[in-house]
Amino acid sequence: MSAADLHGSCLCGGVRYRAALPVAHASHCYCTMFQKQHGAAAGSYANVPSSGLVIEQGAELLTEYASSGHGRRSFCRVCGSTLFWRSTESPDRIAITLGTLEPEYTGPVEREWFVEHKPAWLPRA
Ligand SMILES: [Zn+2]
Repeated sequence: MSAADLHGSCLCGGVRYRAALPVAHASHCYCTMFQKQHGAAAGSYANVPSSGLVIEQGAELLTEYASSGHGRRSFCRVCGSTLFWRSTESPDRIAITLGTLEPEYTGPVEREWFVEHKPAWLPRA
């Protein structure tokens, strides 16, 4: 394990993971699927190499939902925290949710997707 790894867990603490760097990019996605899944304005993710993702605890609690032909969304079946998103078309990488990282993610967020779906109830800068 490297000190540079990212570490995260779900709300109940049942699932703990670490992910090896580098982060390919981090993003906020405002598509309606992420809004539904997260119950929030966006899904916020960092893409990392799937080979570097290690479930340190609670692998049996992870449930994967096939939200489309290729999209797979993993969440904790106890507390409902969304942890990962992956595409069966890109098995070399996986997206981890920024909000589950400990300590807080401090890297850059380079991309915003589907900004036309940003909800009107978000604060305006
Ligand atoms: Zn949990």
